[in-house]
Amino acid sequence: MKLYLVGTPIGNLSDISPRAIDTLKDVDFIAAEDTRVTLKILTHFNIKKPLLSCREHNIRHKSKEIIRRIESGESCAMVSDAGMPCISDPGEELVRECAKCGIEIVVVPGPCALISALCLSGLSTERFSFEGFLSVKKRSRREHLEAIKNLNHTLIFYEAPHKLEYTLKDLYETLGERQIAICRELTKIHEEVKRGNLSEFITFYETQKPRGEFVLVIEGKKHENTPETDIKEAVQIARKLTSEGLSTAEASKLTAKQTGHKRSEIYRQLTVIK
Ligand code: SAM
Repeated sequence: MKLYLVGTPIGNLSDISPRAIDTLKDVDFIAAEDTRVTLKILTHFNIKKPLLSCREHNIRHKSKEIIRRIESGESCAMVSDAGMPCISDPGEELVRECAKCGIEIVVVPGPCALISALCLSGLSTERFSFEGFLSVKKRSRREHLEAIKNLNHTLIFYEAPHKLEYTLKDLYETLGERQIAICRELTKIHEEVKRGNLSEFITFYETQKPRGEFVLVIEGKKHENTPETDIKEAVQIARKLTSEGLSTAEASKLTAKQTGHKRSEIYRQLTVIK
């Protein structure tokens, strides 16, 4: 028989899919991160099914039991407390072990906080990486941030409310000023997305106590060709090149390549401001 990975709501119970409900009804048992949380969902949808507690610390041991039961003909649905199993939640190891044993694994996709936040952020969705929760250990946090600070794509973090202020400060110190979307309580009554700069939210949360669940979506490092020298410096470089014999057009072109500023702007300033 099979293992089903079933996504459950991240807040709004109406987000459960008809296929998720059918699967939870059809399987022989449900492996749940927290049986009390899952029982509430099952009760809401009038589903009665045996539950097996499957937490991060006992997943290795529980995987053996689940595999034994699947191999003896039962089917199992794995759910976490919210969203997709395996995403900052138990499930990854069970999938690996089931795959090793040749058990068929089927996904029944559901809401996922990181994807919902990314879509709402207004930041680039073209390329992104999910960075999970930053470690509570200062050194690991720093190493993690140092390793990703030069990435050009969008970065996504999960964060608990009591660590938000501390994390925003660490992000600012390591990554520098960046655009960020702070996505809170997604799909719930108090859903909120705040878009702005890291530094302005550091100031904001000095007086506001963060509440609820958060996803942080941060812009990647700007590309290398983003102007690092200011336009005045670029014009000085171009002027020097003209004094060395290059034409205004040639100097503008070369300086634009070197500094990332627009050739037309350098040319304009070279010719207007003599
Ligand atoms: N498996 C889940 C998923 O697919 O998104 C994530 C589980 S992880 C243990 C819980 C974290 O996800 C929270 O601390 C928060 O960062 C984020 N999260 C979950 N639900 C959320 C929501 N409704 N709004 C904002 N963030 C949420």
